[in-house]
Amino acid sequence: MESYRHKGLRKALVNILRDRGISNEHILKAIGEVPRHLFLDKAFEEWAYKDQAFPIKAGQTISQPYTVAFQTELLEPSKSEKVLEIGTGSGYQACILSHLFKKVYTIERQKTLFDHTNDILQKMGYSKIRTLYGDGYKGAPRFAPFDKILVTAGATTVPEVLLEQLKIGGSLVVPVGIGDDKEMLRIKRTSENSYEKNSFGIFRFVPFKKGTVE
Ligand code: SAH
Repeated sequence: MESYRHKGLRKALVNILRDRGISNEHILKAIGEVPRHLFLDKAFEEWAYKDQAFPIKAGQTISQPYTVAFQTELLEPSKSEKVLEIGTGSGYQACILSHLFKKVYTIERQKTLFDHTNDILQKMGYSKIRTLYGDGYKGAPRFAPFDKILVTAGATTVPEVLLEQLKIGGSLVVPVGIGDDKEMLRIKRTSENSYEKNSFGIFRFVPFKKGTVE
């Protein structure tokens, strides 16, 4: 259920994110509109608008709002572009993206989580989001190339296949590192065979894993 209380809590969250340095007003507006409490299990609903990550089904987490906003800002969203998200999880990040892009594709490797989130997104009527069950390491060749690709799980190396599915001028945002601390990278495809890499600080994520789980 959506209430005035939830709207008030979202407004407070937007202010926290602004104070932490998120400045893209379109992103702040989307965070002010998407009902994050509907993406959490009932037990955590009360805390939905805290700037924290929470456990969701299948041992995964819904990312912290700051991380969602930060990664989205690095994508430099545009209403004319299509974006691919790897790691649907709760579906919250996909909804934020759907407010900022023309079309959103999102892949989840765990079937139970995929089914659960797919149901929620359909009930909420997010028709711009195309959910896919599969291994994000392979990207989504059927729908490539993409203007932007976002990985919301922590990788150990840069997933090369995803770079190949970028348009020229497009970019991949991906947390990469060997241990728990992942370096937030944005890699822009500047021509057919050249890429430009920039780093934006350290974050923690659940692991980017190969293969699918039934
Ligand atoms: N964007 C999500 C964050 C979920 S956590 C949200 O807003 O809630 C990361 C998710 O990535 C998990 O659900 C995990 O199952 C998924 N994941 C990990 N490796 C993957 C892969 N190879 N392909 C697709 N999804 C993957």
